[in-house]
Amino acid sequence: MPSIARVALDTPLSRLFDYRLLAPAHPLPAGTLVEVPFGRTRQVGVVLECVDDSPVAAGKLKSLLRVLDDRPPVSPEILKLARFCADYYHHPLGAILAAALPPRLRAATPFQADTPWLVLTADGQSAEPSARARGQRALLDALKAGPLAREVLRANQQMRHAATLVGTGWATWSRTPPAQDAPLPTSRPTLTPDQLATLDAMRPALDRFGVHLVHGVTGSGKTELYLNLIADRLAAGRQTLVLIPEIALTPQLEGHFRARFPGRRIVALHSGLGEKERAENWLAAPDCDVLLGTRLAVFAPLPRLGLIAVDEEHDGSFKQQDGLRYSARDVAIARGKQTKVPVVLGSATPSLESYAQALAGRYQLHTLTTRAHPEARLPDIELADLRHLPQDNGLTRPAVQALTDALARGEQSLVFLNRRGYAPALYCPSCAWVSPCPHCSARLVLHRRACRLRCHHCGFDTAIPHACPSCGNPDLKPLGQGTQRLEETLGALLPQARIRRIDRDTMQPRAWAALGEAVRAREVDILVGTQMLAKGHDFPDMTLALILDTDGALYSPDFRATERLFAQLMQVAGRAGRADKPGRVLIQTAFPDHPLFRYLQRHDYPGHARALLAERRQLDLPPHTRQVLLRAEAPSMDAALAFLRRAAALLPAHPALSIYAPTPAPMARVANLERAQLLLQSPSRPALHACLYDWTPQLDGIRPRVTRWSLDIDPLAF
Ligand code: ADP
Ligand code: ZN
Ligand code: ZN
Repeated sequence: MPSIARVALDTPLSRLFDYRLLAPAHPLPAGTLVEVPFGRTRQVGVVLECVDDSPVAAGKLKSLLRVLDDRPPVSPEILKLARFCADYYHHPLGAILAAALPPRLRAATPFQADTPWLVLTADGQSAEPSARARGQRALLDALKAGPLAREVLRANQQMRHAATLVGTGWATWSRTPPAQDAPLPTSRPTLTPDQLATLDAMRPALDRFGVHLVHGVTGSGKTELYLNLIADRLAAGRQTLVLIPEIALTPQLEGHFRARFPGRRIVALHSGLGEKERAENWLAAPDCDVLLGTRLAVFAPLPRLGLIAVDEEHDGSFKQQDGLRYSARDVAIARGKQTKVPVVLGSATPSLESYAQALAGRYQLHTLTTRAHPEARLPDIELADLRHLPQDNGLTRPAVQALTDALARGEQSLVFLNRRGYAPALYCPSCAWVSPCPHCSARLVLHRRACRLRCHHCGFDTAIPHACPSCGNPDLKPLGQGTQRLEETLGALLPQARIRRIDRDTMQPRAWAALGEAVRAREVDILVGTQMLAKGHDFPDMTLALILDTDGALYSPDFRATERLFAQLMQVAGRAGRADKPGRVLIQTAFPDHPLFRYLQRHDYPGHARALLAERRQLDLPPHTRQVLLRAEAPSMDAALAFLRRAAALLPAHPALSIYAPTPAPMARVANLERAQLLLQSPSRPALHACLYDWTPQLDGIRPRVTRWSLDIDPLAF
């Protein structure tokens, strides 16, 4: 009879830990959460199996402290997915399970899951609230049509009224879900021929694994395509997982889904939720119809999963940049394969990784070439040559003219500058001091309104000095342009324009929705922001997009910089003038002859992608090769590099493995730690991973105590 539980704990060690069961007669199912003693502390872990024997001497074996039976076990499907991640990312299973579970569910404190449905009581059926309590009355009427889910009430900001109704005994929280056969609404647009053709091609393949790459120009109606696929899956009683890059930027999307599938359970899962809500939504996932979430949602339990859609699959935010550095897109594909469900990747500018798979025939390629609104033309893209045009505070004459014209026509404009703050640095003209961060190899950014200098890497924050700290010169100058300064410049040039600025400094998730409203209500003439602005917006009266700084990306040492820039510019271009008014995109550049612009002006994603793929092949870069980065952090650069050199020496000589010399990271110093990296590359993923299996377990043995390392499989940022 098994008496020992094998438990995965959140430790850097890739091993399991054995504990004595509390009641040997009742072995715990795999996935059960337990609290165990660990060193001098306690930890919550996941039972993987119960066994008869342990290599640990019986006298040394400790007992479990508690079984956390107030929450369901991690499902077999998620355990399997976590095992895949442990293998693929060479990361401890316990750490992966910890990263996959919502924080609240791996805390030992008791968890009381809430009852998710608000239903009318018998009293409520005949209740007559006072005419003045309009909110309560509206909710009461809505409830007469059927129970409402907590998520819906929250999304509609009706939680306050719900509490009142429960207080008066007219409604109550319940666990019972409503009937599942609510009719689908009929107000769907007639599909475009492209949408129809794609659906026809996909439908026969929906009951098996396969990756479908939907390359659809902006505005071609990819969302409508997903909605149709979801409807198809719903009819088959299956769940859909929809992954999107950033929920804060697409607040309409959730409402859009709810409106399309009334009565169905649509659950959102993202890091913007509070811990309790996130845990509740996670627990609601197994019963939901559609799960809409950011990258962390890829680990949610969905026993009836029938489809995974990854929207904007090229987006960098699908890759986690610390801890378990997973790509939610790649994990989604692994999950699709494990559970035998199709995966749909959608983008106007697919990642070269995905596009290469499609060209090679491993993914099925579907193309949407026409926009859903036939009158919506793609905009003209013009270049303003910075070599020949004088600039005033970073703006050329054609740029100012274009803004003036748009304003005169009563149309809206977007101005992009990828540097937030007032100016990228503060500068002393007499001794060339350029506001260094004391903890990083970065410049402190000038935030004039807040009167601070801030480091955008470590968060260091200090008052603006009255004089140069190096030579005492009192006349310090801002260096370069940031969005704050641009806003100021534009305000002086076009005093009649109503200007709003958005970047991470000014935008809370909620403020985003309000801003969208203001723009649609035409209370804004010019929107200034970083390129994050390009992602989410859909403003029909925006006819001009002005892009001020692209040149850094054209000649960046990061080989993916042009791929990203092209995607951003296509995104921006696709947004300008979506409705009946023609759009215009003006890009300021000192390199107007760069081939990227030729493809962009022709709106030619496939041409550009093929050119980049050819270049990558010539240079042996991904996706033709696979990369792994070993990162090290230490108090001194010498120590970090020495560790990496020892690590490199442990690697086997393999003809398919290229080992590069350890180098300081591009941002060599962050928060007082020096960072270095070792790049491994191979044309063969199996060969590369085979080397890692033997190698990574040795790294802790050669690691000085003050050095930390982490492995980045398929790194996106260096
Ligand atoms: P994408 O995600 O491909 O950029 P969207 O899904 O946002 O495009 O669709 C662009 C616009 O076209 C949206 O306003 C959408 O409601 C509309 N749309 C999509 N499909 C159709 C269709 N078949 N008929 C009419 N309008 C459509
Ligand atoms: Zn000075
Ligand atoms: Zn710093």
